[in-house]
Amino acid sequence: MKKYIRPEILAMGGYVPGEQPKPGEAVKLNTNESPYPASEFVYEAIRQVAGEGLSRYPDPLCRTVRSAVAKKFNVPPESVLCGNGSDDLLTILTRTFVGAGETLRLPFPSYILYKSLAEIQGAHSEEIRFNADWSLPPSFSFSPAFGGTGGTDAHPLRLAFLPNPNSPSGTVIPKKRILEIAEELPCPLVVDEAYADFAEEHCMDLVQQCEKIIVCRTMSKSYSLAGLRFGFLVASPKFVEQMIKVKDSYNCDTLSIAAAAAALEDDDWLQNNRRKIIATRRQLTERMRGLGFTVPDSHSNFTWNAHSKIPVKPVYEYLKRNGVLVRYMNYAGWGDGLRISVGTDEQTSRCVDLIAEFI
Ligand SMILES: *Cc1c(COP(=O)(O)O)cnc(C)c1O
Repeated sequence: MKKYIRPEILAMGGYVPGEQPKPGEAVKLNTNESPYPASEFVYEAIRQVAGEGLSRYPDPLCRTVRSAVAKKFNVPPESVLCGNGSDDLLTILTRTFVGAGETLRLPFPSYILYKSLAEIQGAHSEEIRFNADWSLPPSFSFSPAFGGTGGTDAHPLRLAFLPNPNSPSGTVIPKKRILEIAEELPCPLVVDEAYADFAEEHCMDLVQQCEKIIVCRTMSKSYSLAGLRFGFLVASPKFVEQMIKVKDSYNCDTLSIAAAAAALEDDDWLQNNRRKIIATRRQLTERMRGLGFTVPDSHSNFTWNAHSKIPVKPVYEYLKRNGVLVRYMNYAGWGDGLRISVGTDEQTSRCVDLIAEFI
């Protein structure tokens, strides 16, 4: 049957999401979800629209969310595009900007999905390695080897993805530097701000300053809505107009649109959630450092824990045997580590206590 499949798809490994055990089966600190329930506004909104019935198609442009985002970030509604999770937006972006045989640039190690999107598209991906301190080398935005533009004549660079804060490191590239990168690049720069609500700064206002900047957000992490599937991006209206042609006509459903709009209205909930996660993150970081792990300062809802003296895979396995799931990552030529999501204080302590016991 293989002869029927496109060779690009046959050649792919495929993106492997984190393990999803049944609810209650494990302390789940492996996919950067939130340990807390979403705002009560969200459940009220879902009950209300469900009560009105689901027999009609949803609004293709999610106008209620568009205006909530526009108000929150002080941008025109025409510069907002909504997606079925931000993964949907990353797919739309790749399909809009990168043709088969063209080049997509991404940092390494970072979000593994980007590379899969390039592969599905039949595009090249160009991975630029982070420096050891998780800063980006100048080659991310400038490639003298390729005449200063990136890609090659045959495979021109068409789009760059930059998760900020980055996963798995939780580290950030300063906003000032991001603007420089965007100005140097010969193509649009997507700043994937999945974790920006846990950081000190974000790049939303750079979109007005530099047309090449596109900022992508998700409601999965900071809004406790990973199960809902909702994301949005802010870009030049000229880009959004083109991306609308690429997206599925009804890419967000009636329930998620109502829920996302309600979540965006409850800023008190967001600020409170952010405070709790950051406080627990601080404890997690200090305790892991105390156990001899190398942990970069995190600006997100997880930490990256490497160890120079002991292998970390057995730590992951020990945690799993004891009902705590974290993400074990091993990046070719970079090294391995544990990415631990910030849970409640109790879940996080349980995880670190087990690690201490193991060591
Ligand atoms: C979690 C994550 C996403 C995906 O978010 P969804 O909205 O759940 O699809 C995108 N980018 C990064 C860097 C992430 O960690």
